[in-house]
Amino acid sequence: MSTATLPPPTQLALPVMNESKPSPAPREFRNIRREVTADAIAVLTFDRPDSAANIFDRATLEELNAHLDAIERDSTLRGVVLTSAKPGIFIAGADLHSLSTAPMNALRDIVEFGQRVFSRLAALPLPTAAAIHGAALGGGFEVCLACDFRFATPDKATKLGLPEVQLGILPAWGGSTRLPRLIGLPKALDLILAGKTVVAKQALKLGMVDDLVPHESLLAVALAKVAKAGRKPHRAVPFAVKATNNAIAGNLISMLTQPKLFKKTRGHYPAVLKALEVVTLGVGRSEERALKLEADAICQLAQTEAAKNLIRVFFLQERAKKLAFAGERRTASGAAVPAAGSPAVVPTAAPTGRDAQLTKAGGTPAPLHATVIGAGVMGAGIAQWLAARGVSVLLRDINTDAVGRGMSTIAKLFADGTKRRTFTPVEARAAMDRISPVVELPSLRRADVIIEAAVEKMDLKKDVFRKLEQLAGPDTILATNTSALSVTELAESLAASERVVGIHFFNPVHRMQLVEVIHTPRTDAEVVRRALRFVQAMGKLPVLVKDSPGFVVNRVLMPYLVEAARLFEAGAEVAELDEAMLDFGMPMGPLRLVDEVGTDVSLHVAETLASHYRQRMVVPEVLGKLVKGGHLGRKSGEGFYLHQGKDASVGESAERFVKDDSAANLDRVDLELRMVLLMVNEAARCVEEGIVSGPEDVDFAMIMGAGFAPFRGGPLRHADTVGVANIVRAMNELVDEGEERFAPCALLKDLAAKEKGFYADGLFTR
Ligand code: NAD
Repeated sequence: MSTATLPPPTQLALPVMNESKPSPAPREFRNIRREVTADAIAVLTFDRPDSAANIFDRATLEELNAHLDAIERDSTLRGVVLTSAKPGIFIAGADLHSLSTAPMNALRDIVEFGQRVFSRLAALPLPTAAAIHGAALGGGFEVCLACDFRFATPDKATKLGLPEVQLGILPAWGGSTRLPRLIGLPKALDLILAGKTVVAKQALKLGMVDDLVPHESLLAVALAKVAKAGRKPHRAVPFAVKATNNAIAGNLISMLTQPKLFKKTRGHYPAVLKALEVVTLGVGRSEERALKLEADAICQLAQTEAAKNLIRVFFLQERAKKLAFAGERRTASGAAVPAAGSPAVVPTAAPTGRDAQLTKAGGTPAPLHATVIGAGVMGAGIAQWLAARGVSVLLRDINTDAVGRGMSTIAKLFADGTKRRTFTPVEARAAMDRISPVVELPSLRRADVIIEAAVEKMDLKKDVFRKLEQLAGPDTILATNTSALSVTELAESLAASERVVGIHFFNPVHRMQLVEVIHTPRTDAEVVRRALRFVQAMGKLPVLVKDSPGFVVNRVLMPYLVEAARLFEAGAEVAELDEAMLDFGMPMGPLRLVDEVGTDVSLHVAETLASHYRQRMVVPEVLGKLVKGGHLGRKSGEGFYLHQGKDASVGESAERFVKDDSAANLDRVDLELRMVLLMVNEAARCVEEGIVSGPEDVDFAMIMGAGFAPFRGGPLRHADTVGVANIVRAMNELVDEGEERFAPCALLKDLAAKEKGFYADGLFTR
């Protein structure tokens, strides 16, 4: 008799169970329940205990294997259906922790074991189906590929795909072999090489699932399909699939695709090229030999620095979702209220459901009300993002024209989102309706948070905050989105200084996941905690930073951009500078980035930082001259580049401002070295000064906020890879040549002397 607890009938909608079937002891089957319907269909329900998600770890694979033993032995069974008891997740993928820390022989062992279990499922003589609701990713989708039928709910939560290459590895539990056999080589490559995840509707279009079924009837439909099939179905291979799934076509597609991929990745992402090789070779071989190719490839890729760093970035993202703050409470006078524990960053359980809502000091969930000041680029972007997540937003600017422009920007963001199917038209309309544009501010006592995104001028911001302080409620968080102004100075100009934080979004708000949460020596810890929870509840990834000029991202990025402009003034070519950094793995060259951000905005941030770091930062004249000449970058049509639509060619205006040719002979490697060394030095200073909790914060912020080459793991991880002693040696050589700004900071010198790095050998430990 089944001892597993049956979920409520509405959840499973199982017909009457056959109570006479043997069932394993629950102690052994913690992750997957097996129940048998009156129609003799075995239902395997994935339900990892004490977790919101199902994942495939060794124990779960062993359970599935044991269930398959029992299913094979039971000659009365007529089919098998896989399902999940989790509300928003089918199976999220393989357990990356154990995969990434496994020694090589253990990794091969788990890969081959997974392949064997999924192949057993595929080879069952009974019809099998996956009833998919929620994310079915990586191993979670590979198990579906081993079934005969796949049904998915059309819900937003249902996402399918094989994202492994984004982690520097490839699908190796049969995904690289079975997906092309199901949907054909070109479509499978498109998904696997980009690590794409698709929603159910797209999955149906691509042939990844057989049908879309509402959640209420999902299991019933899967059961009926299996019952009706009666025996293992034999599916005829469609002509389109046959035409490409053979050795000749595979070889041809590989030859044509490889150079394009190499150009795109500049050779930095070995998993993409390896996946191309494995998938295109695999289609011309037996399933068994194709699986062997998968296993060999993942074992090879798992050893690469790129895979280790990309997996680390994944863990850092997970960590940000759970980040919490243990610091001191502060009174309005700024005095610290003694609190247990030191002011440190601690990961806690991720806030979920109603807990994920911003909670007031007492912890009571409250409906969210936000006020956004300034309806420009950032204010409009922030208002749109918050409204789309259910927050009521009051959007204020100085006159009706300005608010009107902001509302048009927001309408366009929603229209684009609707086109991309991020929202339905009804959702977009409802979100737009949550935004109230105003010129005169009413009482803001109900506001949970006010985010100021007016122009970057300290006096103006102080004025704005003084008014806000009068209008806000006693619990309202007063946040500024400033790029580089002192949050402390702003806070000190107010009576409610303990409620002031920086909540620094990046541009464009709807695309950039990182948000810097900045606290001053006066900020009350509870305000920091609420600001963090707010950012997390809004689906962004926070990094906690103590207030200091430029916080982390702009502070580390600016010396690099300034150096690029300085090298340009000294005769280095625009294209050489940008290509050097594209070769390094940045998504965009530095001078192109200056143009995209705006030469005026870049100049302003650079000058603000230079005023604090005079001894090592001098703003090159070219920036000021470009701004004076109206060459503001993309927005004015010209900066370092001439911009036409989406295209940019090297412009001529900037050429007039080249001062000498001292850098004209530097090759790309030299140029890259200079620009990267300055980033490493500044990143190290952020750790040295304790403005972040450790090197992983800086690395994470630079990858997520500035696009620092993710496969290098961030500037400090990169320093470790190169060797801190080598970095310091290169800096000292430049200092010897008279380039004082390269002088290594004390922490770098100290680590070099001790022959240490920022991280210990482990993936995640320091
Ligand atoms: P923007 O010039 O596009 O918009 C600023 C808006 O503020 C304008 O619409 C202006 O009319 C309005 N404004 C001016 N005074 C105001 C007042 N007293 N009350 C209400 N509104 C007022 O500027 P932006 O790029 O959106 O930047 C806004 C803030 O965000 C700045 O502090 C900036 O440093 C910061 N920031 C900008 C970026 C970026 O890439 N643009 C990125 C991160 C942070």
